[in-house]
Amino acid sequence: MNTHPKKERTLVIIKPDAVQRALIGEIIVRYERLGLKLVGLKMTVPSEEQVEQHYTLDPNWRRVTGEKTIASYKSRGLTPPSEDPLEITAKILKNLKKYMTAGPVICMVWEGAHAVELVRKVTGGTEPRGAAVGTIRGDFVVDSYIMSDNDDRAVRNLIHGSGSVEEANMEIPHWFTKDELIDYKVSREDVMYEAELRNILP
Ligand code: ADP
Ligand code: MG
Repeated sequence: MNTHPKKERTLVIIKPDAVQRALIGEIIVRYERLGLKLVGLKMTVPSEEQVEQHYTLDPNWRRVTGEKTIASYKSRGLTPPSEDPLEITAKILKNLKKYMTAGPVICMVWEGAHAVELVRKVTGGTEPRGAAVGTIRGDFVVDSYIMSDNDDRAVRNLIHGSGSVEEANMEIPHWFTKDELIDYKVSREDVMYEAELRNILP
């Protein structure tokens, strides 16, 4: 097992809406320029089972996602559709399966120090309406829970990024076999991670 912080890995899925909006390159560039390294990549049309399993790998996801949604409504002075987190998540999951199987997605694994946290930071908050300017969701989507509830669908936010290292460690093997992930080095890693900056001046 790789334990150095620079070996942290996270799963990113470019969702069907992002593929349709021709944002694949735009999204990849955000993670690449940060200094993360792409170690796995594939295009696939997921099955409903694959999507349900993916979101329920973490036994707490149903509760946490429901609670997060309730809090998001309340912080805007709105009444949530239900006070029961599990009821909210059941509906989200049904709609997520429709959303995520609507067309091809790009699955990727990115590696680097704090990969999980940094991908989440650059990606932005779940509800695009409130996502910070400069994040991918903040810059490229206008969607909101009001609109997704109105149309009984998942909120379209372009990207999935693992929520924690534990989540990443469960999600990566769900989408990739071991030999689909490549252990390799890029030269910029010397500047990013070596203790001494060497071999720059003649
Ligand atoms: P994130 O993708 O930011 O980790 P979650 O894991 O909480 O967010 O939720 C998974 C996905 O489910 C979101 O990316 C979004 O597409 C959808 N979703 C989450 N909460 C809601 C909601 N309240 N209404 C509609 N769709 C939602
Ligand atoms: Mg999540």
